[in-house]
Order: sequence, then C-alpha cells, then structure tokens
Amino acid sequence: MAQRVQGTEDLYGGYMRAWQHMCDVAREVFGTYGFNMIETPAIEQVATFVHGIGESTDVVRKEMFRVFSGALVESLLAKGSEQGLKAKQRLALRPEGTAGVVRAAVQNNFVPQGGAPAKLWYAGPMFRGERPQKGRLRQFHQVGVEWLGASDPASDAECIVMLMTFFGRLGFASESLRLTINSMGDNQCRPAYRNKVRAFILDHKDQMCDDCLERAELNPLRAFDCKNAHCREVMADAPLAPDHLCDECASHYAQVKRYLDEAGIAYVEDPTLVRGLDYYTRTVFEVEVEGAGVGAIGGGGRYDGLMELEGGKPTPGLGFAVGFERIALALEQQGVNMGASEPSCVYVACTPDVRPAVFGCVLALRKAGVRTESDCQGRSLKSQFKQADKLGARLCVVLGTDEVAAGVVTIRNMQTHEQVQVPMTDFTSVVCEKLT
Ligand code: AMP
Repeated sequence: MAQRVQGTEDLYGGYMRAWQHMCDVAREVFGTYGFNMIETPAIEQVATFVHGIGESTDVVRKEMFRVFSGALVESLLAKGSEQGLKAKQRLALRPEGTAGVVRAAVQNNFVPQGGAPAKLWYAGPMFRGERPQKGRLRQFHQVGVEWLGASDPASDAECIVMLMTFFGRLGFASESLRLTINSMGDNQCRPAYRNKVRAFILDHKDQMCDDCLERAELNPLRAFDCKNAHCREVMADAPLAPDHLCDECASHYAQVKRYLDEAGIAYVEDPTLVRGLDYYTRTVFEVEVEGAGVGAIGGGGRYDGLMELEGGKPTPGLGFAVGFERIALALEQQGVNMGASEPSCVYVACTPDVRPAVFGCVLALRKAGVRTESDCQGRSLKSQFKQADKLGARLCVVLGTDEVAAGVVTIRNMQTHEQVQVPMTDFTSVVCEKLT
C-alpha cells in the first residue's frame, strides 16, 4: 500500500472542516481590516527565499525542500553539482508565505511609489524539511497576512489586535494566550547590536554549543533561541535588543506598546524574542498557548527592508502567520472543536420501483440550494431512513408507488416523525419553508 510521506497529513472530515472554518474566520476578521486574499505559487525560485528569509537561517540552509525536474536531476547526478544552474532552475517548495507574497507585490507593482498600501492575506500549505514531531510537520498549513506600504506604529498594533481577535474568534480562552513582543531595531542600530551579541558569544565560547559558535559568525541573534538550555542560560546575560535601539526605533516601539495598551491587549515584553527569519526589523511578536506544549501558534513582525531585498523600491511592511495544525491541537485541549459536524441535509428516500422519480426530485432540491442526499446503492426503504439519520438529515422526502401515482411526495420531519403530503409541483418550496 502506498504510504503518506512522514510528517504530512491528509485533511478530511472534521479536520478538513476545521481548516475551512479557520479560513472562513480569517476571511471575516481580516476582511474587516481591509485585507484581500492572495494566492501565490507553492513553488518559487530559491533566490526568492534566500533574498527574503536570509541565507544564514536554518529555514533556508537546512529545511527547504528543493525541487528539480526529472531531466535536471539526471544532469545534476551526472555533473555531481548544482553549479551552472540558472536561477530559474533552482526551485524550492515555499517554507513560509511572506517571501512569495512580497515577490508577487514587487513583480505586479502592488504598491506603486506614493500609492496606497497593499493589504493581503493567504492560506495554504508550507513545506519544511524538519524532523517530524507533535506540532512540527514537514507539510503544514498557515494563514497569514502581509501589509505592504505601512510604516506607522499604529499598523503594528492593528496587526497584533487583528491577530488576537482572530484567535478569540476561533474560540481560544483569552487568558490562555501569551503574546510576547520585542523590538529588534533597524538597519541603523541593529548592525552594532549584532556585533555586540557576536562579541558576547565569542567571550563565552567555552560555554556555548557548536551551533551557537557557527551562529556567532552567521546570525548571532539566533543564539537566543538555541535548543540547548545551557546556551540559553548563558545568553540570559547577553546584551538585549531593546537596550540598543536608536531613537527612532525606541520611539516606534513605545508607540506600538501605547496603542496596544489603548486596545486593551495584554502582552509580555520578551527582550530575547528574535524569531527565526532574517527579514524582521523593529517590532516582532509571537503567541503561545499556556501549557499546550505545541510551541508558538503564530508570530510575525515588521520587515521594512524586505521589498528591497526582493528587488523592489524601499517599502515598509509587516505581517504574521499562524499554524493551523498547532491551533487545532491547542483548541482541542481547550475542548473546542473547530470542525463541527457537516451541515444538515434533506434525504430523498424511495421504494425501488419508483427510483427514476427520485432523480428529478434531488435535482429540483439542489437547484433550490438545498443540500440533498439520496440512495445510490439500491438499499431498502428502512436502511435509507437509517442512512438519512446517520447523515443528520432534518427532513426526508419519501416517494412510494402511491405517491408517484397521485403526483405527491411525503415530507417527514426526522426528529418529530411528523409527516405531510404535498403536491410534487410545489414540494421544493415547502421543503425550503420547513428548513427555515
Ligand atoms: P514561522 O513562519 O516559523 O514564524 O511560523 C509561523 C507559524 O507556523 C508558527 O507559529 C507555527 O504555528 C506554524 N509552524 C511553523 N513551522 C511549523 C511546522 N514545521 N509544523 C507545523 N506548524 C508550523
């Protein structure tokens, strides 16, 4: 039997409805903030991710699924190296959504100079070559937003309020959510801060793991979220970003916090929050569910340099992404089922001799917008009623020899078992009336 790839999941039944529900809530909540949906390809040039996410990140270095056409694989195997491949031949499955959306914004000029910001949201699968474990998959689903062209600290706060509203609407108890925020500075103040952190790591190199020593060269800030607890202990004494902000960044951060206070959003400042991707500037944030043990359920931040990195004009921007699978796990622990049952239906049942009359009836009901089921396996009337119950049908339209001869149908309420006969010519409007 063919096997699913490890670290991937099939979405069906209640789980599929949960994903659809999450997208519906996103459309509703993000819509009120003026965001429109975008869908970009799941496959992009590696360069899009290298420019955007950063060459030194784990996501780009270790976790990206690279994609080559069959013919290319043969030539790669023969040559033994990727050298000589053109940019358009180096492809990868997207490990996150931002780089692709920003690439699309640059390519399609969504934010012309002096034009209005672009407010976009997306939903879809992302791919990372991670070691699969609870809440960590190799194909997972994200819903995310990107707000391109907004520089005001109010937009950072609005984005965070929108995220917390979204979580609330999904059913999270607000006291279970822990929102952490930080400011990572910008191109003015971050380089000096990075150097300070690098120097700190090198001063403590005897106490740090090999990964952190490598990070000291490539991306020292990542040492703050090293998986090794001892490294994190050492890093507790490292210089902290909020103490090294330039005046503009410090003022921006203060205003974001003031707006969050005004909106009544509870947050914890975590000066060690750096997030894994290189593109963030100034505000970063993350949300966890207390005690859920699934890691962050969402996070994001400002990325004022990203449009330029993707080849566009300097344009500020910010956004966030949330992970469906972790949200579903955490909500389940709180007793919330995002994928409630299928919508109810009407079942058209018949005795076998009048089966042909059912065909027109189901078509008429569906034309009237009614979710309709009927038997396609030659079951007895009794087992059709059982099937109708199983499907949660509210009404059964019953056709027998007598009904067809008299040009009527029987409509049976499946809960009260009350029955009425109505003319065949008029039965759809009676069904619709009974359903309201
Ligand atoms: P990131 O792009 O790493 O900030 O991730 C945003 C959100 O996506 C996280 O908060 C998680 O909820 C989710 N996520 C990231 N990586 C994975 C993964 N490998 N498996 C499941 N969910 C993930």
